[in-house]
Amino acid sequence: MISKTQTQEKEEIFVENFNYLNSNTSKMMMAYVELKKQYLDTIIFYRLGDFYEMFFNDAKEMSRVLELTLTAKSCGGDQKTHMCGVPAKAVDIYLTKAVEAGYKVAICEQVGDPKDYKATEVMKREVVRIVTPGTIMESEALNGKKNNYVMAGMLYKGSFGLSWVDITTGEFYCTEVNGLENSQNVIDIFTMVQPSEIIVNHEFFQFFNDVDLNKINLPSLEEYEEEFFDFINAELTLKKQLNTNSLKPFGCENLKHAISSSGALLCYIKETQKRDLMHINNIKVYSPKTNMYLDYQTRHNLELTKSTRDGSKKGSLLWLLDETQTSMGGRMLRKFVDSPLFNKRDIELRLNAVEELKNNLIKRDAIKETLKEIYDIERLSGKLAYGSLNPKECYNLGQSLSKVPVLRDLLETFKAEQVVKIRENLTDLEEVANLIISAIDKEAGPVQKDGGFIKEGFNEELDELKNIKDNSTTILNQLEAKEKEITGIKTLKLGYNRVFGYFWEISNSFKDMVPFRFVRKQTLTTGERFITEELKELEDKILGAEEKAIKLEQDLFNNLKEVLKDFVPKMQKCAVSIALLDAFVSLASVAAKNNYCKPKIISEGELNIVEGRHPIVEVISNAPFIANDCSLNNTDCKTMVITGPNMAGKSTYMRQTAIICLMAHMGSFVPAKECTMPLTDRIFTRIGASDDLAYGQSTFMVEMSEVSAILKNATDKSLILLDEVGRGTATFDGLSIAWSVMEYISNHLNSKTLFSTHYHELTELEGVLNGVKNYRVQVKEYNNSIVFLRKIVRGGANRSFGIEVASLAGMPQEVLDRARQILHSLEESDINNNSKLTLTNNTKQMSAEEIEQTVKTKANNAEICNMLKELNMNKLSPMEAFMILNDLSQKAKQ
Ligand code: ATP
Repeated sequence: MISKTQTQEKEEIFVENFNYLNSNTSKMMMAYVELKKQYLDTIIFYRLGDFYEMFFNDAKEMSRVLELTLTAKSCGGDQKTHMCGVPAKAVDIYLTKAVEAGYKVAICEQVGDPKDYKATEVMKREVVRIVTPGTIMESEALNGKKNNYVMAGMLYKGSFGLSWVDITTGEFYCTEVNGLENSQNVIDIFTMVQPSEIIVNHEFFQFFNDVDLNKINLPSLEEYEEEFFDFINAELTLKKQLNTNSLKPFGCENLKHAISSSGALLCYIKETQKRDLMHINNIKVYSPKTNMYLDYQTRHNLELTKSTRDGSKKGSLLWLLDETQTSMGGRMLRKFVDSPLFNKRDIELRLNAVEELKNNLIKRDAIKETLKEIYDIERLSGKLAYGSLNPKECYNLGQSLSKVPVLRDLLETFKAEQVVKIRENLTDLEEVANLIISAIDKEAGPVQKDGGFIKEGFNEELDELKNIKDNSTTILNQLEAKEKEITGIKTLKLGYNRVFGYFWEISNSFKDMVPFRFVRKQTLTTGERFITEELKELEDKILGAEEKAIKLEQDLFNNLKEVLKDFVPKMQKCAVSIALLDAFVSLASVAAKNNYCKPKIISEGELNIVEGRHPIVEVISNAPFIANDCSLNNTDCKTMVITGPNMAGKSTYMRQTAIICLMAHMGSFVPAKECTMPLTDRIFTRIGASDDLAYGQSTFMVEMSEVSAILKNATDKSLILLDEVGRGTATFDGLSIAWSVMEYISNHLNSKTLFSTHYHELTELEGVLNGVKNYRVQVKEYNNSIVFLRKIVRGGANRSFGIEVASLAGMPQEVLDRARQILHSLEESDINNNSKLTLTNNTKQMSAEEIEQTVKTKANNAEICNMLKELNMNKLSPMEAFMILNDLSQKAKQ
């Protein structure tokens, strides 16, 4: 599981820990050590009776992590080791806690029945499963509305293969990124998938060695043995898993790198889970061509699934849109948000489904009520395939499947293609549901081994055993009464002792009436004791009834699960349809509640939003939201330069435009009165100041890297949001960069762009650069203060009102007064006011050097003017006058 170098390191640690064991060491401890050698990077939960014990360093670490008492265990002779343990009954909770703390745990079970071993024999034990963050099946560790993916990455000859699987649901995806220069895309895919665990080959590991993924909430990369990524082996493994001779139907036959990572991933799963997972029966290729591509920054800046404030779901777009009733629906909706579509027809199909559900309130509510009664069929069928479905979950599965026909009926009159398809795929599993419901008791608990969950009437033998167990006294009394009547012996008495078990006792006076079928067992002074065949049979039944009943229940339940396993693919299909329906109903409900409109999707052309709103701000803010229009095309209005005071609403406006675009592409209605949306391949955002935690870059460096990535990747189908580019450096540098970025986008990219800035000089570009238009957010000045009107209007702003906003923020009066003084004197000599850059049509071609030179000249002139103004000619000597003149002359020549 780990690379050779890691193995060597671990081996050394191991030897240090265990080398004091010797011939006195107990057999059990020797067996443990032998096992531990194979799982050096893993905590072993070692089954001893009713407990899972941990020893040596495992015990030390786990006693701290799981808050367990650390004790000592004799290893034989006078040797001792640390020990701590958890009760087997509560193992899931501890397992979850250990895995959440980042550990891998090997579950080591006893093999066979303790009764079959001699007292001196050490019970055989073996690791039945290794639980890791990406492969944990325990419900306690899983978020119902989020997939839990384990991912594999491989790098070979400059291209990356990526695969990810959720073993709780069986969903399996792969993709490729070609070229090392596109390595950022790999990180972007990581942030889309949000895996819990990533295993990679050596080259991949080395390549991303200096990237700290933990800082962007991703797990560290783990190296996995190279041989598993070998193409030939991987292809065989993948084909075997998918039960196919050709990968063509899955669309990945030519993706060699993706096949390698997929094969390695399957090997890892097999190695850790130690079983076949038949519910992983399909693989889908993730393609940026059919999905809108979102990089890490855009996901983060637009707060798609997490708010930037505290990283929680609350305040994110998903939080707003998620009114799903089932976990499956919640996960489906998250996928919609995480990977919007880039295909007109697919988007329209979703929109039509949402529209019809939105317009049909009564049916929508009825569907919602039905969905509320449906458990996570996807994960339950996953557990069934995995072999860990417990009786209570089995009942829930049956109960959920029984609701499928209700959904089918409710969808009968719907016309939207997607809804019709959903209905068709709601496979009829009524028989399966009936079988489960007839077999499992409604009150079934989660524990299988104690029995008591098979429903009365399902199996005659079991009913009889249970009847005997529960009513043994009554049954025996009935038999006694029956025998008394048949034999006519009134003193016939039932007795019991350890030696004979149950017997009939007959006093001497009735000896002659004893029938032949009574077999004498003991003679007493007062009478005799007998057994009969019927009594012995009953005794066997009574004494073994409980044990037998439990055993029979296990067998019946295991048989039932075997039968159900054949239906897993159908259940999966059904689950996907329910999830889709739930996601559409959720979008429809949110659209109806918040008064959204259906966007018109066009292949290309003008993006036009009438009275658009920011979906989150409008529901969170107490103040009424002011709607704004937005119109962007690829010709005469492709760049909006947005100016206005701080706090006026520039960022909100830009973000709402991007979010509306994204919502439209995921198939959602949008917060606007009307909306025409051209297909958009990517949304780029350069918003706010933050250090790049993953790569350890400074704020300005991050800003420039992000802008650079935008300029390299944007197309005429992209939407770009640039919020105050150039703010992180000196004014002239920043202004020059912002200016030239705008020129580049306008001249080379033709992307639709929203550019907010406090560099009012940039408003001069309207009429100079093709398609640039100025907009400002309106404010009203009032009594040395300002009122925000939040309305976007044509034209540029000429002031930033920073001091007024600082005043609104409660800055001390003294600081505000002084700031006004400083501003006043700066404005006196301000190049921006006194020497506004005059732009001619030539500016279009101005180089950065030329711009800088122009700016410097204007500043110089202002300084010369000030020096001349300050001169007092009456107080100057001729020499001083000459020196000053010389200085001015030098300055003028600069
Ligand atoms: P800065 O230049 O300081 O970044 P800004 O101009 O980008 O400021 P925003 O951050 O967009 O300003 O807006 C500030 C606040 O104003 C928002 O948090 C929101 O509460 C409110 N706001 C913005 N736009 C609107 C609107 N259209 N209607 C109502 N409230 C709004």
